[in-house]
Amino acid sequence: MKELRDWFLSNHRKLKFRETKEPYKIWVSEVMLQQTRVSAMLSSYERFMEKFPNVESLSNSTEEEVVSLWKGLGYYSRALNLRKGAIYITEKFDGKFPNDINKALSIPGVGQYTARAVLSIAYENPLAVLDGNVKRVLSRYFLFKKNINQTNAHKELQLLADQFLNKENPGDHNQAMMELGATICTMEPRCAVCPLQNSCLGFSTKEASSLPIKIKEKPKIDIELIFLVFRKENKLLITKSKNRRFFKTIYAIPFYIISKDLDFKNDFSQELKNMILKNRILTSKKHSITHHKIQLGYSEIPINFENEISGEKKWIEIDQIEHEFPSSISKKLKTFFESKS
Ligand code: SF4
Repeated sequence: MKELRDWFLSNHRKLKFRETKEPYKIWVSEVMLQQTRVSAMLSSYERFMEKFPNVESLSNSTEEEVVSLWKGLGYYSRALNLRKGAIYITEKFDGKFPNDINKALSIPGVGQYTARAVLSIAYENPLAVLDGNVKRVLSRYFLFKKNINQTNAHKELQLLADQFLNKENPGDHNQAMMELGATICTMEPRCAVCPLQNSCLGFSTKEASSLPIKIKEKPKIDIELIFLVFRKENKLLITKSKNRRFFKTIYAIPFYIISKDLDFKNDFSQELKNMILKNRILTSKKHSITHHKIQLGYSEIPINFENEISGEKKWIEIDQIEHEFPSSISKKLKTFFESKS
């Protein structure tokens, strides 16, 4: 949109990291800005750039050097990830931040927002950014009335951001959206001086101040869901029980829950619990069931413990697991059960 870009070109704050097209410098600034205000990061940014002016110098640094230059910014994992990212870029991409979204996303610590910001600003790659500020602007501009904390809302807003992107000048457009969100379309929007006023639905309906809608989701409970693998020849035991926390209405492989956040009740003997923990293998697979963030694992259990498992029981062929235990979890774990058979 022309009005937005014109406004940005004549009004934006003169910030060093906004005056460059060097992907490395943009990358560092975007990482610093993720949890820190512009005014608080400027001096750290300059010191960082003096010491590490390019990918090569950062990739040759030590963790201690990077952390000491990050003092005052907090969230030190960002600094360590930047260093790891620099080493990765040196090794994989010859020291140059790649102009390709998938390659950029493979860099440690680089997510959608950072990749899109760097690629659009440095290379004019037509990728729209979506951070908190941009979400606020888009929600008001398009009168988007869903809870923006929901995963689906994020996807929908990303689509709106993509549609709204000025594809001829994506770098300026993205910076303009961030700047507008930071200076004009703030919590209390200053619509009178906004370049989007004429086409903004939030303004025309007088609903801008009530948007975006943010309803905090219940905090997620972190758990390990350890499936108990009872084998008889090539068969697995599955059970059905209304008294368990998940899969109350379907057959499932029996499971044991471990959580630091909550105490889950179960009737297993101490001997079985010890056996579960001793044989427990955590997989790389994750899952999510209403408010539970789940790390999946399994534990091979000798058949003599079978009588401790309650509920209706059934022995099934391993290759029938997806059919008999109709959850995407069984698909995720099938290979682990098969590999042991
Ligand atoms: Fe935000 Fe108001 Fe501008 Fe709409 S007109 S984008 S609500 S500042």
